[in-house]
Amino acid sequence: MTRKDELTNAVLDSVESTRIAAPDLPAFRAFGRPEVSYAQLWGMSTNLAAALSESPDDGSPLIVLGSKSALTVAAFLACLRTGHAFVPVDVTMPASRMEDITSQLVEASGSSADDCPVIVTVEPDELAQTPGASLKGVVLASDLIERGRRRLAQAPDPDAGVAPDGLSYAAGERSRWVSGERTQYIIFTSGSTGRPKGIEVTANDVANFAGWVRTFPVVSRGGCVFLDQAPYSFDLSEYELVGALTTGGCLYVVSPQAKDDTRRLFAELSDSGVDVWVSTPSFADLCLVDHSFDRALLGKVGLFLFCGEALQNRTAAELLRRFDGAVVANTYGPTESTVAVTWVQVTPEMAASPDPLPVGRPRPGTQIRIMERDAEGALTGRQCPQGEVGEIVIVGDTVAKDYFANPEKTSAAFSQDRLPDGTPVRAYRTGDLGFLDAEGMLHCKGRVDTLIKLNGFRIEIDDVESNLAELDGVEFAAVVPMRRNGRVTGLKAFVVVDSDTPQNSPQGLRERLCERIPAYMVPRRIKVIEEMPLTSNGKIDRKQLVNF
Ligand code: AMP
Repeated sequence: MTRKDELTNAVLDSVESTRIAAPDLPAFRAFGRPEVSYAQLWGMSTNLAAALSESPDDGSPLIVLGSKSALTVAAFLACLRTGHAFVPVDVTMPASRMEDITSQLVEASGSSADDCPVIVTVEPDELAQTPGASLKGVVLASDLIERGRRRLAQAPDPDAGVAPDGLSYAAGERSRWVSGERTQYIIFTSGSTGRPKGIEVTANDVANFAGWVRTFPVVSRGGCVFLDQAPYSFDLSEYELVGALTTGGCLYVVSPQAKDDTRRLFAELSDSGVDVWVSTPSFADLCLVDHSFDRALLGKVGLFLFCGEALQNRTAAELLRRFDGAVVANTYGPTESTVAVTWVQVTPEMAASPDPLPVGRPRPGTQIRIMERDAEGALTGRQCPQGEVGEIVIVGDTVAKDYFANPEKTSAAFSQDRLPDGTPVRAYRTGDLGFLDAEGMLHCKGRVDTLIKLNGFRIEIDDVESNLAELDGVEFAAVVPMRRNGRVTGLKAFVVVDSDTPQNSPQGLRERLCERIPAYMVPRRIKVIEEMPLTSNGKIDRKQLVNF
């Protein structure tokens, strides 16, 4: 183990340094709420860490269940400071799905459900709307803060470690920090078996990612305000978490109320002063519908950073027209390779071209290989020449460790490899199709499987289908994506039910499905049909369903 492995965590190092050099610098802002400085954010995490450090340093992951708040961010930091990976779970997650995540963590650690604490960062009056908060092992972050505060106040000997300025929670706390190849966070995404699948990203992965983000235009100036809109359970949000917190920047959070209220959203955007816009292209499209989404609203924005789904030429063109001087960047990558691994600055010429936008060139430390697939979908080992479409394989120093406690899925997708200079790294089979052009730019050409992106959210169609099929009274279920201009605009489900009851009506089915999977995965349209159409070889005829 190197010194680097033992002592550093890119995010903690940066937040702590900023807290020392500029304690009053804002770290977190939200509409109508008091600003939270680096000193306050670090202080909150010190108290939380003091409470968490009472349990053994077993490195087990901790769930942080919350919405976007400074307390949630402080809880992430506290987990890392006490040697725990954090598992961000959004407040809207149904309890049964949350239970599934918890049981995966518990099974892997061999402990009991009570030993798998879930840190809930919502306000006490929001608990009733947080389905997962009813589970075993739940502790309120506000209670932990109190416990930590008392513990620090009672520290028998201040020289034993508790700095009077609240900088550390114990002597030598750095030796507990998550570092090197230990897991920084586990993001649970939709899994094809109907159970969420955890992706384990290491501290080294994040450090390498942070080093790249710091080189981006605008971000490199330091101290930028980042739009903080995507849920923390979606790895796109690591762009702003890592980008802002490792450069003395500030997160500007978009409130949940703004999601369905454009006036509120625009009031928040106007208040934000964002320099760096981070979102899916879909979110930008939603804003672009309103003509007041322009320089007068966002006077300082200098960089639009996109990832998570295809960026359409017209979106880029419109942003370049309305936000004179701003850089529009398309980036690509899966959660399995720490947010993103390619980058391209979209020029007006690219945006105006009839050709779809490229997703860019690989970041330093990443090699993109386009691999040939055989008829069964196995990789033949042959690398496709320039221009030929194959499966995108990412080889590099941000490739995640594995799928949590899932050796089978891990070995199917992850492997050990080397960069052209001989550096040993991991490789990941993305399941994305693409090709490299003459300039070395990567172009995406869809998926090899049934994973889709809806408003940037990653959904395995099989996950929705099996959860629907498991509902009492459902005999057959099939789910197909609805598309417009090549983009998925929603999901449509077809079900055969055993009886004509209210609970088997589209509304009844939707309500019951909402208790099992996150709302963004629930099909917008559910149609009850008499019989499932089948192809000549007995499979569900999805082509027919698409046109139903
Ligand atoms: P997630 O793990 O949620 O970030 O989703 C990763 C998947 O989103 C990738 O494997 C791609 O299928 C898709 N994706 C990400 N970025 C882009 C992009 N810029 N253009 C097209 N597809 C993208």
